[in-house]
Amino acid sequence: MVRVAHIHMSGCTGCLISLADTYEKLLDILGAVDLVYALTLADEKTEITETDDKILIERKIPEDIDIALVEGSVCLDDHHSVEDILTTRKNSKIVVALGACAASGGVTRFARGGQMSQPAHSAFVPIGDVIKVDLALPGCPPSTESIVNLIMAALNGDMDYLEPFAEIAKYGKDACGCDVIKNVIDQSLCMGCGTCAAACQVKAIDMIEGKPNIMTEFCIKCGICGAQCPRVRFPELVQKIE
Ligand code: SF4
Ligand code: SF4
Repeated sequence: MVRVAHIHMSGCTGCLISLADTYEKLLDILGAVDLVYALTLADEKTEITETDDKILIERKIPEDIDIALVEGSVCLDDHHSVEDILTTRKNSKIVVALGACAASGGVTRFARGGQMSQPAHSAFVPIGDVIKVDLALPGCPPSTESIVNLIMAALNGDMDYLEPFAEIAKYGKDACGCDVIKNVIDQSLCMGCGTCAAACQVKAIDMIEGKPNIMTEFCIKCGICGAQCPRVRFPELVQKIE
């Protein structure tokens, strides 16, 4: 049975809730996989080490994970987080950046530290800045259907379906509303369909005279507008076309 793990980094659990929203499909998925690690849903093997001055409780990320669904970004100022993401990569065949924070940093891109009780925690990056990511699914959160479809495609080895998510894993780490400007509008590819505006979950895109107007001050860098645009081109692909 395929061994699946949900790894919670600096995220809000909204991606897992979006997956749980599938109800009966979630039961199908849980019936088809061995959920080997998911701190929100299951108790984990813990190791307790007692030293002179403290008790250390460690929850072990298991070895031999087939698919790791990683939610949240990595705080570079938290060595536990950095160790967790490195261990996840080492132990997993396929690493999926699930949701905006893991894929592109999302709202955590705006973190600047200075808050109690860890004012030094100021640098949050997408997991692809620390490890190689195989598939990335943007969105804040990604839709229920898109998570289910991606998991089912990964379980079935449907590489045609997964190919765009592999592309986003390669090129989407700096996602923001600027993507549709840089990769679509500035390439004369925009056909004014309005998909990007409909996809934006914070309404940072207005259609003005048939073209998207990005209000960057509202953009939370989730990357879904660029991912859903039917005319999107990543820079490397544009160069190939030329
Ligand atoms: S413009 Fe909207 S959809 Fe696009 S990255 Fe920003 S928040 Fe996400
Ligand atoms: S989704 Fe793409 S093609 Fe459609 S309006 Fe937005 S940028 Fe233009």
